Order: sequence, then C-alpha cells, then structure tokens
Amino acid sequence: MKAVLLQRHGGNECLSFGNRTAPSAGLGEVVVRLHAAAFNRLDLFVRNGIPGVPVSFPHVPGADGAGIVEGIGEGVGGEGAPKLGDRVVLQPGLACGSCEFCRAGENSLCVSYRILGEHLSGTFAEAIAVPVTNVFPAPATLSFEEAAAFPLAGLTAWRMVVTRAALRPGESVLIHGIGSGVATFALQIARLAGAALVIVTSGSSEKLRQAASLGADVGLDYTSVDVGRKVREITAKRGVDVVIDCVGQATWSHSLVAAAKRGRIVTCGATSGPNPVEEIRTIFWKQLSILGSTMGTDAEFAALLSAVGRGLVRPVIDAVLPLRDAVFGYERLEKGLNLGKIVLSIAP
Ligand SMILES: [Zn+2]
Repeated sequence: MKAVLLQRHGGNECLSFGNRTAPSAGLGEVVVRLHAAAFNRLDLFVRNGIPGVPVSFPHVPGADGAGIVEGIGEGVGGEGAPKLGDRVVLQPGLACGSCEFCRAGENSLCVSYRILGEHLSGTFAEAIAVPVTNVFPAPATLSFEEAAAFPLAGLTAWRMVVTRAALRPGESVLIHGIGSGVATFALQIARLAGAALVIVTSGSSEKLRQAASLGADVGLDYTSVDVGRKVREITAKRGVDVVIDCVGQATWSHSLVAAAKRGRIVTCGATSGPNPVEEIRTIFWKQLSILGSTMGTDAEFAALLSAVGRGLVRPVIDAVLPLRDAVFGYERLEKGLNLGKIVLSIAP
C-alpha cells in the first residue's frame, strides 16, 4: 500500500511517499481502508522527534482517519461490532483497558496511553489496523474528509471545555490562537455549552473574520493588542471564567491576567514553548484553577460524535490535499497558515 513515510527525525526532507506492507487484522483488531486522514500539530512534533518517544523508521505519521472496514480479526464480533463495509472514524487514542484509570473509564489517563501516528503506525496510509475499540461509526451526514477532520482536535477540545473547565451556561471564555483545530472546536463547543461571551485571538484578520462566522463575539489581534488587558477592559475588569490555552509560553501571562477571580485555565499544549513565566501571586490571589488536559475518553468521543453527527459542531476544513502531497500540509501547518484542519484525501 502507499503511505507517507518518515525516514528519520528532522524537517520535511525526512518525509517520502512510498510503499509499505499492507496491515492485517490481529486479535481484536480491524483493518480500515482509509479514505481520508487529517493533520494535527502532533504530526510536526513527531516529525521533529519527541524526547522520550522513540519510533521505528520508516514511520507512518497521522492520528486522524476515516474509511471503510475491510478486514476483521479474530475475537471481533457480536452486537455493535463493526462489519465489513462499515463507514468508520478512528478514535486516535489507544488505552490498555486494564489499568486503574482505564477501569475508571479514563482512557486518556491510561498509564500506557498511545496515540496513532505517534507511538505506533498512523493514518497517512491507504490502510491501518487498529483495536476494534478505536473504531466508531462515521456520522452519515459527513464526508470522509469531514469525518477525518474532527477526532483528535474535537476530542481534545471537548474534554477541555466540557469536562475539565466544566463550562456552564452564561459563562465567558477566552480562546487563544483561533487558527488551530482545537481552538475552532473549542469555540463551537463553548457556544454549544451556552457560553454568553466567547473572545478569540489570532494574528490574522482573516482568521478573526472566519471565527466570527463560527460564533466568536470578539476577535482580538494579538499583534496589536495586549490580550490580557483588553479582556479585562471588555469584561469591565472582571475577566473571563474560562481560558482555553494551547499556545503556552507566548500566551500564558495573558491567560493569568484575563482570568476572572476563581477562573479556570485549561492547557492542552504549548506550541510556542513549555516554560512561561508563572506569576504565582496571580494564581493564589485570584484563586485560579490551572487544569491540564490531554485527548479524552470514549464517552467524551461518543458525545462529540453525536454533536458532530447532528451538525451542532462542524469540522472546519482548511484544505484538502492528495496523500502524496502531504508535505505541503506539513508546510502549511508549520507556517500557521491554516484555519481549521488540513485534510489528506486518500483515493481508493
Ligand atoms: Zn490503561
């Protein structure tokens, strides 16, 4: 089968498009013929190399994918099990199912948690074998490209907004860097959860315009505005109840300033760097909660799937590229040009 192959860690020169042995379905697994895959920032980190996460080369990247079941392994069956020909979408997180966290239903806290395309072979290929527990029915209302565009980012955003921040109707939210997939989902999920005020930031006026059409009340251009101060001004010095921060070093001080007394700041990433100045006095004086979040549970994925299937949350697609041109997706993502998801279309 054809696949995108990472030959070693480094820049885009380390990527090639070539042949790879087609997977077969092992015990408890299904093989999915992929029709679409999608990029996440994770794919850039994997390309560059993540300290402590060894991969075996050549490595197939990609966490998000959707397609059709074309192989079923031993031990897969019974009511609700996927069948040959089913349209499916992949839950990108693999959990052991037996550790204390898995037994509590907390997949993404699994002590041996793995992500497709990071710890094992991913979706930038014509087919993939995955545990049957990672296969969910694709919403009939969505194309394969749309179905591939929501799992990782949508799941991450769902857990951040709904579970970790526990956003309530009437609350106010600040979301940094509205171009990212997680941010575009967080915006829609915040609206769905009943947020009264959603403020977003970007360095691009075009992205801010598009965010307004997705339901943002206020768009702040961080290249010309002091975001923390401006949020306080907009909220009559009160600040916002919830801050969604996937940016890290460049935005953290603004997050602390923008948060209201007893505000919750949720972080799922640090795309600008992991070591911000941490103003501890602000944290205790305002009695802030700093909440980490990674991926999500099967229950959260099912809830997201339901919302996406009903059109309440929609994947924002930035561009669709053929699989062989994946390198252009890496370039676009790395330059931060995308609003929403960059999708790879995989011809059958
Ligand atoms: Zn586990």
